[in-house]
Amino acid sequence: MNENVLVRVKDLKMHFPIRAGILKRTVGVVRAVDGVSFDILRGETLGLVGESGCGKTTTGRAILRLYEPTSGEVNFRGNDLASESAEEVRRTRRHMQMIFQDPYASLNPQMRVGEIIARPLRVHKLASNAREEKEMVADIMQKVGLNVNFRDRFPHEFSGGQRQRIGIARALATSPDFIVCDEPISALDVSIQAQIINLLEQLREDLGLTYLFIAHDLSMVRYLSTRVGVMYLGKMMEMSSADELYDSPLHPYTKALLSAIPIPDPPLERRRQRTLLAGDPPSPANPPAGCRFSTRCPIAVEHCRKVEPEFRLATEGHWVACHLV
Ligand code: SF4
Repeated sequence: MNENVLVRVKDLKMHFPIRAGILKRTVGVVRAVDGVSFDILRGETLGLVGESGCGKTTTGRAILRLYEPTSGEVNFRGNDLASESAEEVRRTRRHMQMIFQDPYASLNPQMRVGEIIARPLRVHKLASNAREEKEMVADIMQKVGLNVNFRDRFPHEFSGGQRQRIGIARALATSPDFIVCDEPISALDVSIQAQIINLLEQLREDLGLTYLFIAHDLSMVRYLSTRVGVMYLGKMMEMSSADELYDSPLHPYTKALLSAIPIPDPPLERRRQRTLLAGDPPSPANPPAGCRFSTRCPIAVEHCRKVEPEFRLATEGHWVACHLV
C-alpha cells in the first residue's frame, strides 16, 4: 500500500437487520453503506457529504470499528483492522478518534472537564503519575483554547462552542493520527462555527492530523477539505479534489447539491439555473434498482433504472458513478 495512504476502505458494507414481531425475526435489511471504497491520505482532510441517511456517519463509525462491518476491509496504517485481536484493536484505537456532532450529548454531565480529558489518558495508560496527567490535561486544554483554570467545571457551565472544544480536547488526549469529525459544527451557532473550523485546521497543521470530515452540505466542507466525496443512499457518487468538485462537478447529484448553496451576489444568484431535487431519498431498506439516484435524477434514461453505474475514474483523481458522464 502507498505509504501516503493512512486509511484504505475497500468495498465496505454495513447492513443492519430490520426485526419485527415477538420473535424478532429479520424481515429486511437496511443497506446503510453498500460497498464504498476510497483512500484517506496522510495529512489531508477528506470531506464526506450527503443528505441525512446516506451512510456517511455509518462509514465513519465503521472505519473506527465502532460498528463491525458486514463485509469489506478497513486498513489503517497498512493493517487490516478485522484481522487484529481485541487487544490490538484497542491499541490501534488510540490513534483513531472521533469528534461528535452534539458536544453536550457526548460529554458526561457528571464529570468535570479535567476528568473528561484525563479519561482516555488513563484508559490507554499514557501518564505515569497524577502530576504528569495534570500537566498533559493542561497542555491539551491550552491547545484547544480552553482556560486551564476551568478544569474543575462541569460541561453545563460552558457555552456550545466551548463544549465542542472539550470534545476536541478529549479526542486529542491520546495523540491520534486520524480523527473522524462527525458534523462537528452543525449543532453550533453560525457565529461560532468559523472559530471551530479554524481551530480544527490549526490543529491539523500543528499536529499533522488527518481528518475525515462529515457534513450534510457541501458549503460546510469547501474551505477545509483537500478532497471531497459525495455519498447517496449508501454509495459513493463522486470524489475528487475539493477545487475540482466545486468548479467542475460531474455527477447530477453533486450538481444539485451545489446549486442549493446560495451565492452571496444577488444579480448572479438571480441569473443562475438551479437543479431542484424532487422528493426525499428512497429508503436504504429498499433502494431502487440500477443507479441509486435514478428516481430523482433529472437526466435519467431507461438504462439507469436497470444497470448500476460503476464508480470509475473519469479524469485524473476524479471518480464518478454515472452512465452519462
Ligand atoms: Fe442520473 Fe443515470 Fe447518471 Fe444515475 S446513472 S446519475 S440516473 S444519469
